[in-house]
Amino acid sequence: MQSGKQKRAAIMQKRQIRRQQATRPDAMPIVAASPRCWSSEQVNRSRLKSYNSYGDPEFVTRGYYEDKPFRCVDCKSEQIWTAKQQKWWYETAQGAVYTTAIRCRACRQNRRAAPHLKKEAKCKTTIK
Ligand SMILES: [Zn+2]
Repeated sequence: MQSGKQKRAAIMQKRQIRRQQATRPDAMPIVAASPRCWSSEQVNRSRLKSYNSYGDPEFVTRGYYEDKPFRCVDCKSEQIWTAKQQKWWYETAQGAVYTTAIRCRACRQNRRAAPHLKKEAKCKTTIK
């Protein structure tokens, strides 16, 4: 007969195996390596580009920007749009408050280097 401790050890072992299977490199998002590096930045509402809306964007209601995971529309890689980048985008670059990052840095640079591609649909994802 097994003691409770042995049973628990067996369960833990099974869990570990399952976890290892779940984190095969091909299934693992790139950002998983640093889950604790998430940051936030205070929203300075007066610096936002003015908008007429029926509701504040999520980050305004919340009062701070939060690192935001997204999938690059071009290379499909998992990316993080950091709180700092968001603050810059909305408050310094005066990006529209309902726009959000859809491309990773590499793909953005690729597009900038090939302006003819800009004729493609202007994709702007909106925050609900
Ligand atoms: Zn990309």
